[in-house]
Amino acid sequence: MPLVSVQQLLDEAAKGGYGVGAFNVNNMEQIQAVMEAARETQSPVIIQASSGARAHCQDRYLYHMMLAAAELYPEIPLVLHQDHGNSFETCKSAIELGFTSVMMDGSILPDGKTPSSFEQNVEVTRKVVELAHDKGVTVEGEIGVMGGVEAGHGAGGTGRVTDPGQAEEFVARTGVDSLAIAIGISHGAYKFKSKPDGSVLKMDVLIEIHKRLPDVHLVMHGTSNVPKDLQDVINQYGGKLNPTWGVPIEEIQLGIRNGVRKVNVDTDSCLAITGAIRKFFAEHPEKFDPRDYMKPARDAMKKVVALRMTQFGQAGHARDYVPIGIEKMKQRYAAGAFAAK
Ligand SMILES: [Zn+2]
Repeated sequence: MPLVSVQQLLDEAAKGGYGVGAFNVNNMEQIQAVMEAARETQSPVIIQASSGARAHCQDRYLYHMMLAAAELYPEIPLVLHQDHGNSFETCKSAIELGFTSVMMDGSILPDGKTPSSFEQNVEVTRKVVELAHDKGVTVEGEIGVMGGVEAGHGAGGTGRVTDPGQAEEFVARTGVDSLAIAIGISHGAYKFKSKPDGSVLKMDVLIEIHKRLPDVHLVMHGTSNVPKDLQDVINQYGGKLNPTWGVPIEEIQLGIRNGVRKVNVDTDSCLAITGAIRKFFAEHPEKFDPRDYMKPARDAMKKVVALRMTQFGQAGHARDYVPIGIEKMKQRYAAGAFAAK
């Protein structure tokens, strides 16, 4: 099966009332971990790469590893998504490379940290939508500003919570297919200093946006749970993580009941890998073959990804439908199938 359209995955998730995890990768073992978890749980899946990941993989390695994944796991509907495209050029190069979905994060300027104006965001996102839809590629936009920094990208601090009225105007003026919103969650491992409650996690804003835009798929970013057991393994074997809390699974599930269809997860995978490698090094100081420690690292990431797939509800849905490629999506966009949002 070729890489498929994310629009179809998210439309199907909306019909079925579940969310689809979008897992960040930087190397072969992470791709293998996601694909094995998808096979084990029979899940459709989104694999995403940030600009930093693309640079790390020199683009071509990433693209060809993804083709290998599609070839080796033909039963899994698989999407390759550009995470946090910082400019029109970044999204254009992703589309040319073969990504089937792109995020244009116009909430910050191309420097990756300065918040943009609403008009600047509308202008660049609209331009990406025109190019992408012409090629059958789906576009995720972002309105409001996420806090924190991930792979060098992000405004830092606590960000700016999305205004529901602005979200509505943004979708109408840009034609985006899905929308990332800021509801008090930050990127990275250090999200909250205690278990988050309604004063920081603005689930009421999410619910209000879904009410106003029932047909737009919402995207939650920074949605790692940062579980204590994964933190503990790292600290037990020489790591020094400060105590931190992620997003409670029940809050993610509340989001999924209110229009969230794409759930981004990166930090949990990183924690699982690092803990497994630290443990292996501590227990086997005489070993030096990278395969010896990359295997438990891959297994640890697969375990947490499979758990998330079950918690988000995508498990068991891999064979629900016949996936379509972006050629067919191109025709649908040209026919105006998605113009009425
Ligand atoms: Zn993000």
